Amino acid sequence: MAITPLMPVYTRCEVRPVRGEGVYLYGENGEKYLDFAAGIAVNLLGHGHPHLTKAIQEQAATLMHVSNLYGSPQGEAFAQRLIDNSFADTVFFTNSGAEAVECAIKTARRYHHAKGNAHKHDLITFSNAFHGRTMATISATNQEKLRDGFAPLLAGFKVVEFDDLEAALAAMDENTAGFLVEPVQGEGGIRPASKAFMQGLRKACEENDLMLVLDEVQCGVARTGSLYAHEQYDILPDIMASAKGIGGGFPMGACLATEKAASGMVIGTHGSTYGGNPLAMAAGQAVFDIVATPEFLAHVRQMGERLRSALEQMIPNHDHLFESVRGMGLMLGVKMKTDSRAFVNWLRSRGLLTVAAGDNVMRILPPLNIEEQHVREFVDALSAAAADYEAPSVAA
Ligand SMILES: *Cc1c(COP(=O)(O)O)cnc(C)c1O
Repeated sequence: MAITPLMPVYTRCEVRPVRGEGVYLYGENGEKYLDFAAGIAVNLLGHGHPHLTKAIQEQAATLMHVSNLYGSPQGEAFAQRLIDNSFADTVFFTNSGAEAVECAIKTARRYHHAKGNAHKHDLITFSNAFHGRTMATISATNQEKLRDGFAPLLAGFKVVEFDDLEAALAAMDENTAGFLVEPVQGEGGIRPASKAFMQGLRKACEENDLMLVLDEVQCGVARTGSLYAHEQYDILPDIMASAKGIGGGFPMGACLATEKAASGMVIGTHGSTYGGNPLAMAAGQAVFDIVATPEFLAHVRQMGERLRSALEQMIPNHDHLFESVRGMGLMLGVKMKTDSRAFVNWLRSRGLLTVAAGDNVMRILPPLNIEEQHVREFVDALSAAAADYEAPSVAA
């Protein structure tokens, strides 16, 4: 047998973490890493945060799972808290980001179905988007590497250029249900949409009774310095997928919607065995306790500014490697002049964890509770690593 016990769909690197403490990860043989990847924007509070750990331990010992056949005081409480802090009137809990996007897609289609417009089933989506790995979510992107070999894909998605309002408006027709968009593309290369684009989509939805569906799986839950990224665009969605950071490392997600948008989601239309179980709710509540305060959000913005300006100051010293910094809050990307994947590998060998992304970008996604000293430690180590780096031959 040549196949590995873990289905070999990932090129797993040499880092084999067995323990985490704050912003540091420790490998099998005691290697220490500064973790500015945070499980791909998941570990908002770093590793082993006492408040989150305690909440999970206590809930695990009290009640872990019962199914959605029963009433859920835990689910009601957390849903109400998400509602009180957002545009939404109702929440469906999932176990992952892709499932949250799936629920968002189903909710948008059911909205039009419930109004007698079942033909309005198409979502307009955007180039280089990443919405997850289920059949619907790979159908919602034009990234060939995600789709190759999985035909037939799901019908009902029309992909146009990201951040191109004219293209989005031109793609609308009588079958359009709405738009599905990441306000800040993550996997696609930390690309914030422009305000004019997001506001234009909102206006088009208003004028044509369409659903604005936001995928805030990566950019949501305080990552960009506001609880949700769309707040910084001065717009509200009809439906939003949330996940990654929402459980701080506990696998969970949520689909939030207005009462109007969820009008088709009646008894029997959707479900999940685990979704919103008491253990997940305890994790979500504990993360929310900490990240959803004005002080914490201000901290994220402040650390984001520090990190960004330290990176910008560093770039001229290594301008054969780095081009520019982009992003919002602590969702930052460095556009590289040399292969970002190779450089991320190099950093890893020097004990620094970052994540490669599309468009030749290095993603920097630290825990949100980092302090000034971690910013300095990261940028100093990054700069030293850059100085010692021999790029695998200049790109043609
Ligand atoms: C990670 C991600 C997803 C998928 O989340 P999973 O938990 O891996 O299913 C969806 N959308 C965006 C924007 C993401 O970054």
